Amino acid sequence: MADVGPGVGKIKGDNAESTDDYVSFLLAQEEPRPPITWNNWWKEVYWGRGVTLMVVMPLCTFFAAYHTPLYTNTAIWMTVYYFMSGMGITAGHHRLWAHRSYNAARVLEYLLALLAAASVQGPIIWWARGHRAHHRYTDTDLDPYNARQGLLWTHIGWVIAKPRRRHGKVDVSDLKRNDIVMWQYRYYPWLVLAMAIAFPTLVAGIGWGDWKGGYVYAAFLRLVIVHHSSSCVNSLAHWLGEAPFDDKHSPRDHLFTALVSLGEGYHNFHHQFPMDYRNAFKWYQYDPTKWLIWLCSKIGLASHLKTFPENEIQKGMLSMELKHLFKKQEELAWPHGGLPVVSWATYKSQAELRPLLCIAGFIHDLEGFMDEHPGGKHILCQYIGKDATAAFFGGVYNHGNAAHNLLAMKRVGMLQCGTPHVTEEKYIPPSQLLRVAHVKELSNQAVY
Ligand SMILES: [Zn+2]
Ligand SMILES: [Zn+2]
Repeated sequence: MADVGPGVGKIKGDNAESTDDYVSFLLAQEEPRPPITWNNWWKEVYWGRGVTLMVVMPLCTFFAAYHTPLYTNTAIWMTVYYFMSGMGITAGHHRLWAHRSYNAARVLEYLLALLAAASVQGPIIWWARGHRAHHRYTDTDLDPYNARQGLLWTHIGWVIAKPRRRHGKVDVSDLKRNDIVMWQYRYYPWLVLAMAIAFPTLVAGIGWGDWKGGYVYAAFLRLVIVHHSSSCVNSLAHWLGEAPFDDKHSPRDHLFTALVSLGEGYHNFHHQFPMDYRNAFKWYQYDPTKWLIWLCSKIGLASHLKTFPENEIQKGMLSMELKHLFKKQEELAWPHGGLPVVSWATYKSQAELRPLLCIAGFIHDLEGFMDEHPGGKHILCQYIGKDATAAFFGGVYNHGNAAHNLLAMKRVGMLQCGTPHVTEEKYIPPSQLLRVAHVKELSNQAVY
């Protein structure tokens, strides 16, 4: 997404040399608000959207639910409407409007705008602006739900308390040109009343006469659940799970988060490939939002579904796998460098005093290993003070990885000039003779 605000050229012109990067530069432009204390907290919270909607409303709902019987029809309707209104956020606010990951037919766009209003998470344009800032400035003070401030902040704190910084600027001009987005913005309070409260109550009331159950469960309890389901994407999805694509920032992939957020839990993938209409790129991974969008494309309600090239996705995964392998490699002990370089004569004379063995130009000390050799001590004794390269590499036995690794740990010196003349050996079976290969034998290899 394109950002408004100072571009790179502007930063340079504004003497950005004193700042580390673009985010630091932006943060330096504005003083943060004073910290929240016992003396000022009541001025620093959002009483409407924060205290009333996120604290008082849920408490009243739990109290009402405790005193209201839950009928099967209403429970089913509450669950269905949870999915429907949740999709308004995941397929609408998030993947359609914030990320433009597909095109929706007007009827689908209206439907998603209505269902999103039933989730009461602010108008599309407000939500998308914050979310684009979240992606653009992830894990910084310009991110409205900065994961570095802890789980409580990302889950609910940022909705209740006023931020110490304004979130970073982003471009939402495309949304301002969208008549459905602006229609939803204009009539938002009315749409909320109609879709979040009236509609679910009416369905249960007219449908099976459970007006109170529809009001308490399908309208309000469902709303509380949807709020926390969406909040999990900001909190859990930046805390729980793996980072198979990039661990530079906090987003993580986890099935549990996906289960509670209609498929938004593959968040590490999502932050790497934000314009992909999928959050979980494998078709069978739990992502009902992805399945819905795909289904809509099959019946003509959605088109231009964006996917990142599989090759680039695999590259991201490979980078992380290599990183893990490198870390594992660093945890292991490896052969020492800086070995003394000795002549063939020195090697031979010292091998009379202790069991030294020369293989591939390295001299190995077999002290304590002679009796441990799986092929027996006798074979080793034949080669002490000699060059056992050919024997080790197949002349006697073609050793595998374990032997190579173990042998390398026993290096105590390097032979000057690499290896002695084979003529110095008196009894060499034909299979052990070293020879220069013919170029035709190496035709599959690069020849310089
Ligand atoms: Zn995120
Ligand atoms: Zn996103």
